[in-house]
Amino acid sequence: MSSLHDRHIKPLILAGLNGENWRLKDYESRGGYQQLRRILNDQVAPDAIIAELKASSLRGRGGAGFPTGLKWSFMPRQFPGQKYLVCNSDEGEPGTFKDRDIMRYNPHALIEGMIIGGYTMGITTGYNYIHGEIWDVYARFEEALEEARAAGYLGDKILGSDFSFQLHATPGWGAYICGEETALLESLEGKKGQPRFKPPFPASFGLYGKPTTINNTETFAAVPFILAIGGQAYLDLGKPNNGGTKIFSVSGDVVHPGNYEVPLGTPFAELLKLAGGMRDGIPLKAVIPGGSSAPVIPGAQMMDLTMDYDSIAKAGSMLGSGAVIVMNETRCMVRALERLSYFYHEESCGQCTPCREGTGWLYRIVHRIEHGQGRPEDLDLLNDVAGNIQGRTICALGDAAAMPVRGMLKNYMDEFVYHVEHKRCLDSAKPL
Ligand code: SF4
Repeated sequence: MSSLHDRHIKPLILAGLNGENWRLKDYESRGGYQQLRRILNDQVAPDAIIAELKASSLRGRGGAGFPTGLKWSFMPRQFPGQKYLVCNSDEGEPGTFKDRDIMRYNPHALIEGMIIGGYTMGITTGYNYIHGEIWDVYARFEEALEEARAAGYLGDKILGSDFSFQLHATPGWGAYICGEETALLESLEGKKGQPRFKPPFPASFGLYGKPTTINNTETFAAVPFILAIGGQAYLDLGKPNNGGTKIFSVSGDVVHPGNYEVPLGTPFAELLKLAGGMRDGIPLKAVIPGGSSAPVIPGAQMMDLTMDYDSIAKAGSMLGSGAVIVMNETRCMVRALERLSYFYHEESCGQCTPCREGTGWLYRIVHRIEHGQGRPEDLDLLNDVAGNIQGRTICALGDAAAMPVRGMLKNYMDEFVYHVEHKRCLDSAKPL
């Protein structure tokens, strides 16, 4: 089997992926499940595993970038009663398509990472919540679970030890908001997927009101590799506070869109080169470096940046989920923002007023600017509405809708002004 994605994954941590060797025997031949075996045989202390994760500087790969070792240490191991481990595979951020490829090409890395997580935090039940609409991935993950159960890696008394762990896959139904961890928990409980007020946080009140740890697919999949090479060695692959490698989903105006796994701290220019450079040789205009909610960065500035959490944050944006959307100089930024604003308006769960009403306002204002009906006062209004959403909502979707608006206005105000004054796009611009 060969697919478009096969050619584009450049494996580093999740080594040996080619689309045909995802099965248990292949994973074992690459050293898979050796870390689990070692941990159970040697009865490695959970605190030692957490110490390795802390040393590795692994940060959550789903978007927030929270230190994984620290998060795992929050779980009250001795809590009497049920605790849960949840994998957030509800990959829905526009531009992001890495987690589905991990489950497609290396599902056992994720399974092993989750079992180790269960052992470390004293949890016996886990769920992998998989984004709806990617049914082939869901089916493959189920197959991989069956293989792991049959081989004694999952279930009661794993590999003859006293540790038991049950892992189940659950399909989502395609709602973007279910990627928000508390909305995901609500959905997992069979309710409408709407974010909860926080606190309490899932670590103390999660699934069914029980302590719950939630991590992203890529985060779990990195764990066996970290334990195999050691936390310090993993850290050294990247840069301080940005340990290891990261899979970047590169899309847009590049020759080879796809997933690229590179060390954190890799220059953007190198990542662009891996993706084949700019398509048709048209110069770079702008980059959205971390999924659609990340503020845009002008191309010239981007060419001087490295791909890691701290550098991108310092430049005023976010590394987020690692979805790198590349735009060439023919792209109309008003049109691009119109599409983004429409997305957030559609995906708002409607629970809180600034988001429910504000995202509609954002979309309608950008829509009329793009379609020749913009008024001079719309530019201030746009900024004002975005400011009234940001920081005033239950979950981060409100911020995710507001931040791209402010980023576009900050960096491309001249295009918005041109649209208002001339009632059309720049001559050179075309829809994204
Ligand atoms: Fe729902 Fe938006 Fe409020 Fe989040 S910010 S809870 S998506 S209405």
